[in-house]
Amino acid sequence: MMAAERNVGLMERLPVARGRIAADVPIHKYTWFRVGGAAEVLFEPADLDDLATFLAGLERDIPVTVIGVASNLLVRDGGVAGVVIRLGRRFADIRVEGDQIAAGAGATDIEVARACRDAGLAGLEFLSGIPGTIGGALRMNAGAYGREIAEVVVSAEALDRKGALQALTPADLGFGYRSCAIDPDWVFVACRLAGTLGDPSAIAARMREIAEARAESQPIRMRTGGSTFKNPPGHTAWRLIEEAGCRGLAVGGAAVSDQHCNFLINTGGATAADFEALGEEVRRRVREHCDIDLEWEIQRIGEPLAPGGGQ
Ligand SMILES: Cc1cc2nc3c(=O)[nH]c(=O)nc-3n(C[C@H](O)[C@H](O)[C@H](O)COP(=O)(O)OP(=O)(O)OC[C@H]3O[C@@H](n4cnc5c(N)ncnc54)[C@H](O)[C@@H]3O)c2cc1C
Repeated sequence: MMAAERNVGLMERLPVARGRIAADVPIHKYTWFRVGGAAEVLFEPADLDDLATFLAGLERDIPVTVIGVASNLLVRDGGVAGVVIRLGRRFADIRVEGDQIAAGAGATDIEVARACRDAGLAGLEFLSGIPGTIGGALRMNAGAYGREIAEVVVSAEALDRKGALQALTPADLGFGYRSCAIDPDWVFVACRLAGTLGDPSAIAARMREIAEARAESQPIRMRTGGSTFKNPPGHTAWRLIEEAGCRGLAVGGAAVSDQHCNFLINTGGATAADFEALGEEVRRRVREHCDIDLEWEIQRIGEPLAPGGGQ
């Protein structure tokens, strides 16, 4: 079936919503890699009620995919079937209350870190270097410089596939290394994080240190997806990749960064297929070199292009 026919059928089956619903929306412009096909439908809810009502009315066989700012996503070239939900600014409220901060899932990690800095709330500086949203940080248990969000979450809220609001404790979230146990169909909408009262200028200094360390060691100004593979127990992925001789390796417009071997970069004109083929070649070489299987940290979603280029 052609993409256009596919979208018309799906649009007619969707519940009415106040937010923006559009068919066949190119996703590459939203992704850090700047690659990927179209969302069959993209839904940007007007607010929490709008999203809850939409989910409640959505037929169960229609797939749902949530995205944040797609800093950890490789969207395949054939696009994503079903409804892609993007929360955006209407879910980005931030409120500091005592030694806690309440944040919408669409708020970015850097905004939360800055609000903590301004209010003198220490312990969340690590969020300042992670270029995602709070929703993505919860899903991925994002972390850096020895801390991860699991250590600071007090509670979270998510809408389940039927649109019911679920209040979640840290135990419910079941965090692991770059993972959480919540059903992938559920949409995080908010959370509450804890810090400790501290001095804003010391917090600002720590955030500057983090920014400088990142600028030195990571290609943060490039089109990249951050760490491509998880660190295997007892090893660092970048070192294994380097030792397997993959520094600078390229497939089409996708290359292993010279600056940080666990980052893949778009050197121009890359496709998602280039990135996936490059990642698999890196995995193959590392396996051959040291018998270790690297696991993708980047989430790959959607379908490859069908032979001949159609969807
Ligand atoms: C330059 C660079 C540096 C990076 N450094 C780090 C780092 O130091 N530490 C680290 O942990 N990560 C790092 N990352 C990866 C990435 O920023 C994190 O994984 C981030 O948490 C992803 O957030 P996002 O909003 O972009 O989510 P997306 O990439 O859009 O999505 C990631 C996953 O989260 C899910 N998701 C997103 N929003 C929601 C929601 N509201 N409800 C439910 N599920 C949702 C998606 O379905 C997907 O499974 C880096 C990436 C880049 C490009």
